[in-house]
Amino acid sequence: MLEKDLSLLQCPRCEGDFQIHKEKLRCNKCNSFYDIYDGIPILLTEDAAREEKTSVTYWDNVWRDKKNIRENERVKKKSEIYFEMAGIFNAIPAREFIGKNVLEVGCGGSLFMDYLNKKISPASFWGMDISLPGCKITLYRNPYAKIVCGDIMNPPFRKNSFDFVYSVGLIHHFYSPYDALAAHANLVKAGGVLFCATPNLFALPGKILDIFSYKKTMVGITREKMEECLVENGFEIIKSGYIGGLQPFLMLESYGSLDKFSLLYVLFRNIISPLASLSNIAFMFRLNSYFLSPFIFVCGRKISNY
Ligand SMILES: [Zn+2]
Repeated sequence: MLEKDLSLLQCPRCEGDFQIHKEKLRCNKCNSFYDIYDGIPILLTEDAAREEKTSVTYWDNVWRDKKNIRENERVKKKSEIYFEMAGIFNAIPAREFIGKNVLEVGCGGSLFMDYLNKKISPASFWGMDISLPGCKITLYRNPYAKIVCGDIMNPPFRKNSFDFVYSVGLIHHFYSPYDALAAHANLVKAGGVLFCATPNLFALPGKILDIFSYKKTMVGITREKMEECLVENGFEIIKSGYIGGLQPFLMLESYGSLDKFSLLYVLFRNIISPLASLSNIAFMFRLNSYFLSPFIFVCGRKISNY
């Protein structure tokens, strides 16, 4: 963390400025000190421990478990997700973010930061995650990025600071995905772009997750509600829709916690998943739908500061 990077940051307790003081960040206003751990400032307040669908402890456990990290790496390699997302990102004029500030919210085990870094280079990449182990994995994989441990509901960033803010698979872990999305919107500059993708929990993909009771850690939001949130926060919609093609099992797979030796896991990994992947040849024709596609996305441009 360099002095010049501090201009984007603020004390999550009082919105004061920071200075670096004895290898910690000190708030000039309320005098709070924040530790920096292996280059990652820990900018959480007591409020980060509040009740949400998933907690700091939940995510620390996810990112400390080597099995989850392996699954995360495997999903990252799944080109059909990768290229589909790339297709969506292609809707955004990436060149306009060259040399600008880009932020991934909920960046633990990021699937897309390295892709975007190649596409938008050079840019100033930032990542924020509530889990320190999640932050460490992301920094290890993306050493060019500035990673902070923080909470989107109480962010350590100044409003209107970023030219491009994005998150993938984050807002459904909050009791109010709408409020979590609105918190992203606050961080985007006028003229900047917000992209958010979240699981499609209302149609078949959500029903499948129901069977495995994964939805206890998730809250759904519709495409219409996401659009409404952006418009309410001063955005115009660039594009929205469904992504992930004909892959209603995709989210289940990305959770990866079916017992490796169970019949279901063997069936799923070796038969259902490859078949579903084949079906994604349909990506060429963009056969995405409300009923089958695993993700919803919305992308908008901020036309005014609120
Ligand atoms: Zn302060």
